[in-house]
Amino acid sequence: MHDLIKTDFLTLTRQHEWHLDAFISSNEIYNISVWDTGVIKFEPKTLKKEQAEQAFVFSSAIHGNETAPIEICSEIINSLIAGDLIIKHPVLFMFGNPASINIGERFVEENMNRLFSGYHSLHEGQVTKVFLNKERERASKLENYMTNFYAEYTNAERTHYDLHTAIRDSAHEKFAVYPYVHGKPWKKQQFEILKAMGVTTFLLMEKPATTFSYYSSNTHGANSFTVELGKVRPFGENDQSKFVAAKSTLINLLQGHTYAGDNFNSANYQIMTVYREINKHDQSFQLSFADNVANFTQFKAGEELATENGVAIVTEKDGEAIVFPNANVAIGQRALLTVLPTDISANLV
Ligand SMILES: [Zn+2]
Repeated sequence: MHDLIKTDFLTLTRQHEWHLDAFISSNEIYNISVWDTGVIKFEPKTLKKEQAEQAFVFSSAIHGNETAPIEICSEIINSLIAGDLIIKHPVLFMFGNPASINIGERFVEENMNRLFSGYHSLHEGQVTKVFLNKERERASKLENYMTNFYAEYTNAERTHYDLHTAIRDSAHEKFAVYPYVHGKPWKKQQFEILKAMGVTTFLLMEKPATTFSYYSSNTHGANSFTVELGKVRPFGENDQSKFVAAKSTLINLLQGHTYAGDNFNSANYQIMTVYREINKHDQSFQLSFADNVANFTQFKAGEELATENGVAIVTEKDGEAIVFPNANVAIGQRALLTVLPTDISANLV
């Protein structure tokens, strides 16, 4: 076994904020490849690559202060390194932004979830020849690692769960963003898997995005979700009992447990679609509700959501609910989404 793999992998990752030379290692059960800091692959030694039925990518720390998913992934990684956990399918773990883990912040210079699908190399509409900051370079590298991983398993169904916790409370504690699938059907089986993780609230996106989950969905055809598992808290302050279902479901998937889409019943879910995207156009942009108003809180038609340049931005429909409000975004970026319930029964598989 390589000496470096004997260090706790999350500790090793935090010791190397932006780069770690690749190395390979193994234990009795797995071939283990470290491709960079925070990027580790496990492949059962008995697996023939072309026979792999499933290939999983579990990412966390795209936002460095979202500790619960980092802890979940770290624990699974440690069990795999120790040989205490037997899995069937290959898996790539990524801790997205180690430098931001170390400072306990969402990001260092730029929100990485605004940088995927090539946005790492765009500035004011122009392609840049050099990366403008390290997070941009890191986002580009993570795309490449995912590409290389899926290329190894040409016959496998691809799945990517990008694990997060949210800045504010949520009326539905756990929820997932289903990236835009360009008219392809939504998958009952994925809804059932996420329900096993404790997620029954879904936000269906209706246009391309710069997120990691849209990248893996659109570029690699993966079953992809941004999964919000609860609220942001520092290391050591997460109530582990709230994450047991998520962790055990991730392990079950790796072990080959299958979830039956036939069990899908829309009554078990709250499925929403974006009604409006409200962008910040001016520094005067202010939210009109308190910081402790939860994601998915509903408003009545005509209620004020925000003001900008002295003009009120109000809800148009009864039941419009707010998601991801953040007045501190850059000019031109999304400051708020409003969502409404939607019926997806006509386009389900
Ligand atoms: Zn996040």
